[in-house]
Amino acid sequence: MTTLDPPKRKPGPVDFLELDALLSDEERLVQQTVRGFVQSRILPNIASWFEEGHVPKELGKELGALGLLGMHLTGYGCAGSSAVAYGLACLELEAGDSGVRSFASVQGSLAMFALHRWGSESQKTQWLPRMASGEAIGCFGLTEADFGSDPSGMRTTARRDGADWLLSGSKMWITNGGIADLAVVWAQTEGGIRGFCVPADTRGFSANAIHRKLSLRASVTSELIFDECRLPADAIFPDVIGLRGPLACLNEARYGIVWGAMGAARSCYETALDYAKARRQFDKPIAAFQLTQQKLVDMLLELNKGTLLALHIGRMKDRGRALPQHVSFGKLNNVREALDIARQARSILGANGVTLEYPVIRHMNNLESVLTYEGTSEVHTLIVGESITGSAAFA
Ligand SMILES: Cc1cc2nc3c(=O)[nH]c(=O)nc-3n(C[C@H](O)[C@H](O)[C@H](O)COP(=O)(O)OP(=O)(O)OC[C@H]3O[C@@H](n4cnc5c(N)ncnc54)[C@H](O)[C@@H]3O)c2cc1C
Repeated sequence: MTTLDPPKRKPGPVDFLELDALLSDEERLVQQTVRGFVQSRILPNIASWFEEGHVPKELGKELGALGLLGMHLTGYGCAGSSAVAYGLACLELEAGDSGVRSFASVQGSLAMFALHRWGSESQKTQWLPRMASGEAIGCFGLTEADFGSDPSGMRTTARRDGADWLLSGSKMWITNGGIADLAVVWAQTEGGIRGFCVPADTRGFSANAIHRKLSLRASVTSELIFDECRLPADAIFPDVIGLRGPLACLNEARYGIVWGAMGAARSCYETALDYAKARRQFDKPIAAFQLTQQKLVDMLLELNKGTLLALHIGRMKDRGRALPQHVSFGKLNNVREALDIARQARSILGANGVTLEYPVIRHMNNLESVLTYEGTSEVHTLIVGESITGSAAFA
């Protein structure tokens, strides 16, 4: 009898489709390294961080030491890894907590990517190596209180004053805002929307923490205020005008979410499966009831399909074939399904599902933010809708 004998071979309860076999040794190593970090550093602390609404700033240096910050960028101290390896890191970080993955996404895919893609050589050399090591933290200011899904109407302005720029206005809901050393800020100018590097010690710059969030609590979210901040002429990104500047960055961060959401989903599914096998009611494990199995199987289907989708889009990205519409497809599907998996898991845990003793309700609440940021599910629906119908239905 060989090991391939059909009656003996059974699919794994989590990686049912053997997706692990589709990864290279190097990709697997990245995944295992990040998973080990999450197990030893994040999981023992995350419930308390979430409860206290806190995330330690030094986490930046720890993620930097692992090479996870801007890991898909090349040069300037960045690891230059593949899109799939970066995606796997996002998945494992978000299996810990969406707030931790958000930290890495905002640093690497929004702030660092913006510098890498649109910055001048001196902006890159000044900031990227320090940001890759986590010594400097970055944030990305696009959203304003009155302009979320439609940032084109933003009111933050930058106007010339001699050779300098004067930046005025405010940004809202900015991840890492209060702990950032550098804010990448998008503002209206006479010549259209432009990006600026705003060091946090610039006079007139301040960040106010947004309190009372019930989602992404282990993540700093801030309002940024610019009160006539004087910036030197070379603070501007030289070559990009208009929303294509920030949208290119958002596409990178959205790509990480395609994977990350499946990390949160996996954590919920694994928790629910273990719980269902251990919890007994009516003299049986609840996993033995048909209705529980229905839930677990539905979760397994979407977890494996979503992970396969992430891997497929990742391989497309590594071949230079992933379009923003593909990323929208992935973000829309995977966050929606992850949220559904989290809700199903919550119900399997019964009353225990509403406490921080288990990760499920934390993931569930976090995923509500993930559904909204980096383009809401409605916006991604309209992006895919426009792609297949040829009609834009945004306005
Ligand atoms: C925890 C957290 C962290 C964030 N971090 C950052 C950050 O680091 N940097 C940053 O710039 N922003 C950040 N954001 C902001 C985020 O990107 C916005 O919340 C998002 O773009 C949606 O904007 P809004 O909240 O103003 O909602 P709105 O745009 O007001 O949308 C409200 C509802 O209306 C729907 N809607 C809007 N327009 C349409 C339309 N044309 N058709 C159909 N439905 C529509 C939306 O889909 C949504 O359901 C963060 C948000 C959160 C919650």
